[in-house]
Amino acid sequence: MATMKALVCRECGKEYPTKAIHVCEMCFGPLEVKYNYEEIKRSISRKKIQDGPDSIWRYADLLPVQGPTYLGPHAGMTPLVRAKNLGAFLGLDELYIKNDTVNHPTLSFKDRVVAVAITRARELGFETIACASTGNLANSVAAHAAAAGMRAYVFIPGDLEAAKVLGNLIYKPNVVEVEGNYDDVNRLCSEIAGEHGWAFVNINIRPYYAEGSKTLAYETVEQLGWRTPDQVVIPMASGSLLTKIWKGLHEMKTVGLIDDVKTKINGAQAEGCSPISTAFKSGRDFFKPVKPKTIAKSLAIGNPADGYYALKATAESKGSMDMVSDDEVVEGIKLLAQTEGIFAETAGGVTIGVLQKLVKQGTIKKSDVTVAYITGNGLKTQEAVIDAVGRPHRIQPSLVSFEQTFKVGKHGGGDA
Ligand SMILES: *Cc1c(COP(=O)(O)O)cnc(C)c1O
Repeated sequence: MATMKALVCRECGKEYPTKAIHVCEMCFGPLEVKYNYEEIKRSISRKKIQDGPDSIWRYADLLPVQGPTYLGPHAGMTPLVRAKNLGAFLGLDELYIKNDTVNHPTLSFKDRVVAVAITRARELGFETIACASTGNLANSVAAHAAAAGMRAYVFIPGDLEAAKVLGNLIYKPNVVEVEGNYDDVNRLCSEIAGEHGWAFVNINIRPYYAEGSKTLAYETVEQLGWRTPDQVVIPMASGSLLTKIWKGLHEMKTVGLIDDVKTKINGAQAEGCSPISTAFKSGRDFFKPVKPKTIAKSLAIGNPADGYYALKATAESKGSMDMVSDDEVVEGIKLLAQTEGIFAETAGGVTIGVLQKLVKQGTIKKSDVTVAYITGNGLKTQEAVIDAVGRPHRIQPSLVSFEQTFKVGKHGGGDA
């Protein structure tokens, strides 16, 4: 592919070679990948994409890898579900769920970013891959490293959900549980990254890693029949995913796949960790770091690296941001499960809760084509809902016991 031209500083524009670096040495701004869009425009087409692999790699022309060998060959192309029941409940004519609860191999959107990061890390000659994680990233790094035969170190906060801890250990990476929150983990990892020659996917490989999120924009547009949605709702941790969906939509226009982008970008956080949404709602273009306290642990970043850029993208798109309480997170998870049969993790509850709020406020209108990004699987955050779903009906193994519990007639009908 080799359509990647350079790394470029988002602040001062200084260019760098496409190595394992992430900060501008002139102004300390973050680096991002720059492409040769003229060249991509000449070779890319809707048909070429549709004839490509059934994964994120159908968009390889717009990803920061050389190819043609891709690690994480099955990430992406998750279902875009037409959510008729939830849409009717909320009063939306055309609502879709982008369902990354079934992403491969570790059931969250992080499989997209890790597939890109580990492919690039291998291309750059790394043998050890590492990350600072709120949970899902560690799971994905651990699984991809196992499959690629690479050594892995995953660093996680000390209070993660049981399934996310187990979802690391099973792949046998070096799992490092740090006594502290994600921001502590991240600070420590920045120091370690400076000392050891490892590929930290979200530190020195971050410019490449972050680009993987763009595939959520590409897939949405393709699955909508090459239409852009009017509104999207995106959960925010560092804010990277949100900024990259915005970037991805505009790239599709730049390379001639679509004519225009009219999408409004809406960001979602939990009240217990909402530095970005709080800044947006108070009309500031900078955020104040917070100490996270929420059940939405995958989003619990108190000092979000891309918070500033997320605020900027949302403002440019004329979108909005909001936050919901932990109780509303649980209600959101239940609502999505009970209307659409999709069991999301806490981040999904945040997205659905904020979607509901934005519809109530009139920010998202009945006729708006709306996509809600559901980024992680509910089986990984069972602690959040275990006390909110009741218990099974327990009976003896006899017909009498069953019929005493369920007052059903002989030919159906009735409910307990
Ligand atoms: C990491 C994560 C996000 C958002 O991540 P950003 O840091 O904002 O890119 C959203 N949902 C889930 C489930 C995640 O694990």
